[in-house]
Amino acid sequence: MMTSLPQSAQPLVDPQGRTIRYLRISVTDRCDLRCRYCMAEQMTFLPRAALLSLDEIAIIAERFIARGVTKIRLSGGEPLVRRDVGDLVRRLGRHVGTGLDELTMTTNATRLESYAGAMVDAGIRRINVSLDSLDADRFRYITRHGDLDQVLRGIAAARAAGLAVKINMVALAGLNEDEIPAMLRWCVDEGHDLSLIETMPLGAIDEDRTDRFVPLTRVLADLQTQFALARDSHRTGGPARYWRVGDSKTRLGLISPLTANFCDGCNRVRLTTEGKLYLCLGHDDQVDLKAALRDGGIEGLDVAIDIGLSRKPARHDFRIASGAAPAVARHMSVTGG
Ligand code: SAM
Ligand code: SF4
Repeated sequence: MMTSLPQSAQPLVDPQGRTIRYLRISVTDRCDLRCRYCMAEQMTFLPRAALLSLDEIAIIAERFIARGVTKIRLSGGEPLVRRDVGDLVRRLGRHVGTGLDELTMTTNATRLESYAGAMVDAGIRRINVSLDSLDADRFRYITRHGDLDQVLRGIAAARAAGLAVKINMVALAGLNEDEIPAMLRWCVDEGHDLSLIETMPLGAIDEDRTDRFVPLTRVLADLQTQFALARDSHRTGGPARYWRVGDSKTRLGLISPLTANFCDGCNRVRLTTEGKLYLCLGHDDQVDLKAALRDGGIEGLDVAIDIGLSRKPARHDFRIASGAAPAVARHMSVTGG
């Protein structure tokens, strides 16, 4: 597709006065794992014809950069299962230092071993890796068939290539809650950061999330009896609150969308692999950027982005209630975690 990029455009400010600087892109809704809190065992994925092409993803991302976005995270589904993701990383990596402050990725690390070097070459400096257990059997159970060794090799390759790693761990009652202190200790030993996440009511799965929900207030109280945790002022405009762990390099983040609302400082929007722009993880409202770009080029894209922004909700409304339907029907893998 040939599309010229106008150089200047209005910055992205929503009706609440929040400036949007962070774009998350789900490059595929597919995944090679089936984490129980994220997906059902049998999933219906989008037909390939419905997806944005790599060129379209890059054009939309570049438009957001021209309009003031300084951070892009590639996610999914599993971003590294999309065959042309390396080309996208290289293309967007060209903007790092000239518009983009940071290009990053969230991955399950099953294919990280073969991608880590290329990611560093493209300008990626930090990644998030999902790892919900360090016990091979538990890991296989939670992911339905994941191989812990493969993931640990991916993480080791990332570190060897020079990437900083933040581990994402979803706290799950009866599955890994008892392992959280050991995970934090491992992260301290390995020099990783750790973010603990409350399970969110996104998309239908095969079990009731209520049974697995762990309030991070409880986890924090427990960790404080075992570690010297000092509040850290680091903020990302996102849901995490941070702590320093003793005199280590490790930063502990708690992502508590259920027990702490964080929407006032929200600086992000999300693009799905189908080209829909979601203004909030917890709402269904979206605009179709794929149609806008295909029908109206960059001007059409700008109009659609502005319409979307004017509808960005003030806050999400997540609740975990026994037997209740998920807050939104789409899975995290559609919008990109
Ligand atoms: N496949 C990649 C991975 O797992 O890192 C990227 C996509 S995944 C959807 C991104 C993050 O969302 C992961 O850290 C995952 O644990 C988290 N996640 C998925 N479903 C969730 C849910 N319902 N509640 C909370 N976190 C969730
Ligand atoms: Fe796949 Fe990531 Fe969802 Fe697990 S959390 S099923 S790895 S998209």
